Amino acid sequence: MAFLTLEQVNKLYGELAAVRDVDLGVARGEFVSLLGPSGCGKTTTLQMIAGLVEPTSGRIMLDGRDITHEKPNRRGLGVVFQSYALFPHMTVAQNVAFGLEMRKVPRAERDKRVGEILELVHLGGMAERYPRQLSGGQRQRVAIARALVIKPPVLLLDEPLSNLDAKLREEMQFELRRIQRSVGTTTIMVTHDQAEALSISDRVVVMEAGRMTQVDAPYRLYEKPATAFISSFVGRMNRFEGIWWPAGASGAVEVAGAMLASETADIQPGTAVTASIRPEKLFLKKGDARLNGHVASRFFLGGHWLFNVETPAGLITVSMPNNGEEPAQEGELVGIDWAPASLRVEATVELSA
Ligand code: ATP
Repeated sequence: MAFLTLEQVNKLYGELAAVRDVDLGVARGEFVSLLGPSGCGKTTTLQMIAGLVEPTSGRIMLDGRDITHEKPNRRGLGVVFQSYALFPHMTVAQNVAFGLEMRKVPRAERDKRVGEILELVHLGGMAERYPRQLSGGQRQRVAIARALVIKPPVLLLDEPLSNLDAKLREEMQFELRRIQRSVGTTTIMVTHDQAEALSISDRVVVMEAGRMTQVDAPYRLYEKPATAFISSFVGRMNRFEGIWWPAGASGAVEVAGAMLASETADIQPGTAVTASIRPEKLFLKKGDARLNGHVASRFFLGGHWLFNVETPAGLITVSMPNNGEEPAQEGELVGIDWAPASLRVEATVELSA
């Protein structure tokens, strides 16, 4: 039994369906991310859970209670937005204590809880500072502490890390996950950053044009994307349009004269197909291979290299782990190989509106 459920939730703005037919169950203690491009309905979904936007139809249940039409303050959820708006004239401790004061929590209890939560977010020594005396990451931790101190049943985060620079953002991703694990609060986070969603969440919900098109563990989302959009949005993917020619238990996709080996079954000979393979499932080798081409560009990323190779089947991206040697130079003729089972082949579907 899910702790928080959305049942057939829709939100219409005139003709526009911002959120369509959404069904989602979130377990107690789970960390779920809503991931998708701008305008796909992530924030609207989060705001309906928070009570800031009313659904046009459908039902939202929290711990067995129908909260669809309940006021935001009755729901008592913790909310952290991108602009986390701390009170500038209040110290860190006063900012964090605010929600407890509103709830008339007695002074001694209040001080104790504020102290504990500031320790948890590693701001124990900063209780008397003002927001302007903190770094961006520290301010964000105050905002999270302020939301958590009231012990909300659910924590809602809308792009909480997007104001931070890349390195700090990565640190805060680990921090956020650590804090969430130790308090165990059911958490829903909106993000358009696929790496962030994959690295922090128990499950990721992908939204496309108002619909939830896949709800899965990060690993499954990456390995078994449900739609073509997800396969290109989550991680890098090489994609080819071609024709399927089976040969016994295996076969190949013909792309501009090149034959790309796969092990797909159950597709009729001559069918138009889309083939896809992740860059890390390909490898470069010297000499003849399944596909040959010239290195058009290469990027060194520390732990691995990315090579863009011009081949008869088009430009292909290959990822190679860094083993301390340079795999190939720009302009060099290289071979590309793969295990046929890792080339995914599907009959091409005509997209209708
Ligand atoms: P972003 O990442 O850019 O914040 P999002 O996925 O969170 O995007 P939403 O903010 O949920 O998207 O918006 C979904 C759609 O609903 C968009 O097309 C948006 O323009 C529209 N929309 C949102 N709020 C309103 C509103 N108050 N009135 C009319 N249309 C709205």
